[in-house]
Amino acid sequence: MKRYGACTDCDTEVFDCRARWPEGTPLEGHIRIRMGAKDNAMRATIALMDGSSIDLTFCADCIPTIAENMVKIWDKVIQRHVLSVDPEVRKALGYPEHNPRQHEAAEREAIHLIHNKPFGVLAVQPWNEVVEWLA
Ligand SMILES: [Zn+2]
Repeated sequence: MKRYGACTDCDTEVFDCRARWPEGTPLEGHIRIRMGAKDNAMRATIALMDGSSIDLTFCADCIPTIAENMVKIWDKVIQRHVLSVDPEVRKALGYPEHNPRQHEAAEREAIHLIHNKPFGVLAVQPWNEVVEWLA
């Protein structure tokens, strides 16, 4: 499953960590709250078949192989979105409970991704530039 604050392909952490999930929880050791992006944090915009796109985080080393690893990468993205819709899974992971509107939105997003396929990388940008540009 895709790890928060980490490369979507190799799971290397590319954001500084402010807090981790505690021992004994399902996501033990994963970043819970992230801080600034590290220098090797990249944001790739992936084109989907329906004309929409999704932004995913990678480390700089994994950028050249996004296309060849896309099946594995996409599986991790889907897994994350599908799992985080299920109220029981959310509870087990320690995620806050969704209200009905949040649940509906999460379900819509999961269905949107499941019925889509990625077909190419539209753009790659260092996360640090994304943050500076928004600031
Ligand atoms: Zn990586």
